[in-house]
Amino acid sequence: MSIQQRLVRLNPRQQEAVRYIDGPCLVLAGAGSGKTSVITTKIAYLVQECGMSARRIAAVTFTNKAAREMKERVGQMLKGKQGHGLTVSTFHTLGLNIIRGELKALGYKPGFSLFDPEDAKALLRDLMNKDAQVDADQINRVQGQISSWKNDLVLPGQALSHAANDDEQYAARVYEAYVRHLKAYNAVDFDDLILLPVVLLRDDPEALARWRRKIHYMLVDEYQDTNVSQYRLVQMLMGERATFTVVGDDDQSIYAWRGARPENLVTLGEDFPRLRVIKLEQNYRSTGTILRAANTLISNNPHVYDKTLWSEMGQGEAIRVVVNRHEEAEAERVASEILTRRIKERAEWRDFAVLYRGNFQARLLELKLQHYQIPYKLSGGTSFFSRGEIKDAMAYLRLLINPADDNAFLRIVNIPRREIGPTTLEKLANYATEREIALFAACRELGLAEQLPTRAVERLSRFIHFIEGVRDRMDRGDALAAIREMMREMDYEAWLYQNASAPTIAERRMANVWTLIDQLEKSMNREPEDTASTDTETDSVESAISRLVLRDILEQQAEEDDSDRVQLLTMHASKGLEFPHVYLMGLEEELLPHRNAIEVGTVEEERRLAYVGITRARRTLTLTLARQRKAYGELMDCTPSRFLDELPDADLEWEGRADKEDPEKKQARGKDAIAGLRSLLG
Ligand code: ATP
Ligand code: MG
Repeated sequence: MSIQQRLVRLNPRQQEAVRYIDGPCLVLAGAGSGKTSVITTKIAYLVQECGMSARRIAAVTFTNKAAREMKERVGQMLKGKQGHGLTVSTFHTLGLNIIRGELKALGYKPGFSLFDPEDAKALLRDLMNKDAQVDADQINRVQGQISSWKNDLVLPGQALSHAANDDEQYAARVYEAYVRHLKAYNAVDFDDLILLPVVLLRDDPEALARWRRKIHYMLVDEYQDTNVSQYRLVQMLMGERATFTVVGDDDQSIYAWRGARPENLVTLGEDFPRLRVIKLEQNYRSTGTILRAANTLISNNPHVYDKTLWSEMGQGEAIRVVVNRHEEAEAERVASEILTRRIKERAEWRDFAVLYRGNFQARLLELKLQHYQIPYKLSGGTSFFSRGEIKDAMAYLRLLINPADDNAFLRIVNIPRREIGPTTLEKLANYATEREIALFAACRELGLAEQLPTRAVERLSRFIHFIEGVRDRMDRGDALAAIREMMREMDYEAWLYQNASAPTIAERRMANVWTLIDQLEKSMNREPEDTASTDTETDSVESAISRLVLRDILEQQAEEDDSDRVQLLTMHASKGLEFPHVYLMGLEEELLPHRNAIEVGTVEEERRLAYVGITRARRTLTLTLARQRKAYGELMDCTPSRFLDELPDADLEWEGRADKEDPEKKQARGKDAIAGLRSLLG
């Protein structure tokens, strides 16, 4: 299909949004109105009609899943070379690419590591424990604070001078040390992926010019969820030219808790007075009933922009609300319904999605799905290779085959605890950077002894000798036996017990480590598939480990493949996606809206979250809840979510509702909501 043919399939407003390329453009519209479609078509339009090289175009969105979907949609339009060099990624991947291209300007060396939140927490723990014993809560709080600072573009110096009280002072000091140590480790954390590029582009005119030359046109999906630093990144990259298209929906802003600023939609108009705002009103996704439910629900929130959405998809089925005895019955119900519905509706597994508020809700559901042998894909859960203990064990294996693997070194130099402190590591890292050698090699150098206390040097060399000893045994005899012995010798198990909240958890983690080593053994004795020989060969431990590392990566990619499976995901992760049949679980007070949100008064964000969930559905929507649920180890009675009261009663079909709720209670709750709204609107 040519781009012209594609264009005429869009409605006039969408076409306008695609064709307008001379200045900044904002498409503001409700769910399912074809915002993402505007972005994908516009990319093809820029390349095929305007002759822009795909290399010069960057489209960004929020989740990996959404980026993948977008890539797929664009891939169908741009064939072969046309799409070469096109960037369709998350904000963070774009940031990562900028960092990769600007290592020198940023003062990093190649092979820098990306600290995941767990790695970052471990570093913070070390830093904070230096002064006094701190608990997990304190560490989490400081980690959260540092993250908000980074998202708001507040650097350590500013944090320190603006600190309003002792707690903030303290956090700011930890922030400063944290940044310094990350740098010494040649590492960046997740928030740095945006922060570092923004700071670089702000302070380095040459780098700015380089990137402005590189990116001519930017498209941003889910713009309502950008935070301050992401907004600045777009602004810096585009500059005066302001050749960008952003699309968003203020009603779908659900990341305020992570620093998102929906008011960026308004700011955009102020920063770019030439901004052309285009509104879309036709929904192409959902049935009339589903759309009406979504519109009615969200009309309970105050609005900056008024939007009306209509659909030509027909009224469709009523929305079912299924009340279950308890959470297990709820999970059972969802699983068994999917099983029968698939046949009744002649649907595929992938046509079903089950959405919930928190990942913990998926556990029971997984068991039920497994029971019925329903293939499913859990997004955001912890896969084998992303478990902490597996990452530790993999790091040992990687270091054994490549002592220059600095990431592996840093991960395990202190696991189990070897009393090698952050200051020692910082000095070691500086020493290694100056000489351009690996950390492992640096430990052996005599020069290091001049910069570190004797005890620190001893501890480091004990570690080095330990690893070299294992390596030696591997070379001389049975490599696997040597690896197993290593795990026992260093008493990793005891360390797990010290760090787990319950002994059973530590036990399971240790079992995972042995499973990994068994896998390694299998991998060494595998049938060689890719050689002509049919004999079973014993492979070298090196290549077996490399294969495991590769499998780790592949597994992450397989996670991302879209084979025919029921999708299980949080409402947060479901943004931008659509499914013919959607189940929304746990419509209960304290779960949706979440209890924390009720406490701190952010029910409106929860309402938007429910709006996002509901608008994922194309044909059928089923809402489920439980009358009782285990929370904090106790069986608690649950109250149906207030959001159910806010849906149009005539469109709902209840099942299993016992007595109707006490009308007085219902009214009282309604009043609360109205009062809250009034105060918000001032
Ligand atoms: P969300 O707010 O949930 O991200 P969106 O506004 O990005 O939604 P899209 O995902 O682009 O909406 O579109 C929703 C559905 O409507 C998709 O299946 C898309 O293919 C279809 N669609 C979009 N525009 C049109 C159109 N003009 N004609 C027919 N179908 C369309
Ligand atoms: Mg979209």
